[in-house]
Amino acid sequence: MHAKVEQVVSGTPFCHFIGGEFVGSSGGRMFDTLSPATGEVYAQVHEAGREEVDAAVEAARAALAGPWGSMAVQQRVALLYELADGINARFDDFVEAECLDTGKPWSLARHVDIPRGAANFKIFADIIKNVPAESFMTDTPDGAGALNYALRVPKGVVGVICPWNLPLLLMTWKVGPALACGNAVVVKPSEETPATATLLGEVMNSVGIPAGVYNVVHGFGPDSAGEFLTRHPGVDAITFTGEVVTGTEIMKAAAVGLRAVSFELGGKNAGVVFADCDMDRTIEDAMRSVFANCGQVCLGTERVYVERPVFDEFVDRLRLGAENLATGRPELATTTLGPMISRQQREKVLSYYDKAREEGAEIITGGGVPQVPGELGGGFWVEPTIWTGLPESSPVNREEIFGPCCHVQPFDDEAEAVAMANDTPYGLATSIWTGDASRAHRVAAAIEVGITWVNCWFLRDLRTPFGGSKQSGIGREGGVHSLEFYTEMRNVCLKL
Ligand code: NAD
Repeated sequence: MHAKVEQVVSGTPFCHFIGGEFVGSSGGRMFDTLSPATGEVYAQVHEAGREEVDAAVEAARAALAGPWGSMAVQQRVALLYELADGINARFDDFVEAECLDTGKPWSLARHVDIPRGAANFKIFADIIKNVPAESFMTDTPDGAGALNYALRVPKGVVGVICPWNLPLLLMTWKVGPALACGNAVVVKPSEETPATATLLGEVMNSVGIPAGVYNVVHGFGPDSAGEFLTRHPGVDAITFTGEVVTGTEIMKAAAVGLRAVSFELGGKNAGVVFADCDMDRTIEDAMRSVFANCGQVCLGTERVYVERPVFDEFVDRLRLGAENLATGRPELATTTLGPMISRQQREKVLSYYDKAREEGAEIITGGGVPQVPGELGGGFWVEPTIWTGLPESSPVNREEIFGPCCHVQPFDDEAEAVAMANDTPYGLATSIWTGDASRAHRVAAAIEVGITWVNCWFLRDLRTPFGGSKQSGIGREGGVHSLEFYTEMRNVCLKL
């Protein structure tokens, strides 16, 4: 057992959080959770069976039937603000828990994961407080008319299935709007990252969120907590972030009972660099978009298309940046690159490193496993890697790798760049770097993705629609768009 975890999340092994209480699994089924920085087991986690999932769904239904279901919006809004403050009050615990689970640098968790985790409650509190109600005056033959108005009601019990790359951030991105809209949730965090979802249960209790509004069940996907939850008839809607293949399975589960789904899935995102860009700024953004979180960001860039006159300069400067990244203990300010989340994910990434070599890629930098000394020697490290020279048909250019790597390819004109960027079954995000605003606008409209950044990357305004086109997702979340999923509209026609 890792000594630190006891100080951060009370009650290890990690328990489920059901009906406001931390409970273990009947029969005591457990699994290990590892520190990716050391490769060592740092805690045990209870694995939910059908019984625990049933209990969590029942607790959520009971919460909807209780005070939560009839709570005034203003009161819900106040509680969501308190939740955000509650996360901030335990900021360091959340940072430590997230970094134990993921191995990511503390600096990243401090600047991105945990502040966004708190902000996700505030933004949706503000949105639900200000959302206008649609209404129409309708003419009637007697001249008195009728007032039509729409009521927003919660969907009910929402199943929330989360990935491991930005655990608290992505979970609260769904739990925030779900609660703002008056739903109750059952969350299934990734089996790789159980800590912050559990810790959030403590905050829920401390700020007085009614029992059963937020429930957590731990476990795996198929034939485990994930499948039991998505197949549960007491779940009214399912929101999922993860891989396309998993989304396909969840969609089959949701088809029974015709439950609504919202999917945020994988990507194979392209960056497009024009010769007239501000190269200092472009390199800074490209470094983050390829290597942040060790490349484990759905919005990250794995294909970079660079206009030929600046190709060599771009490749050389990106190489320098990659070679300056420093692996190390997550808590050190000097650490800028964490490990992969798991041994399995590292094997997957390394299999693409092998493929690139076999297919004759020019390896600009990396391509292997770094020597990391001492207690970190068993961690799941890979080298930041840049290739060029592979055909567009290579699996390295077609499949999502989800590692700290990219392939860089020159282009000669705008149409060629757009065609290559679009030649993918995915459609999540793209970044364009150019000094020409008209071209930026033209290219942004032509690339088939849900999110386009121009001269930036991962600059998020949480009021904007977020989601993927093609195989990268179904639906949009963010701002008022989240309300479309987390509420149902009912129309009332009142004859005057
Ligand atoms: P994953 O699909 O393997 O797992 C995600 C979650 O689904 C986990 O909690 C897992 O236990 C659960 N799960 C697996 N099989 C299931 C099943 N049959 N039924 C129910 N639940 C099941 O994804 P991952 O490896 O955790 O995350 C990485 C993936 O997530 C990448 O593809 C990445 O692009 C994607 N992602 C997308 C976004 C986005 O906003 N579009 C954000 C982050 C990550």
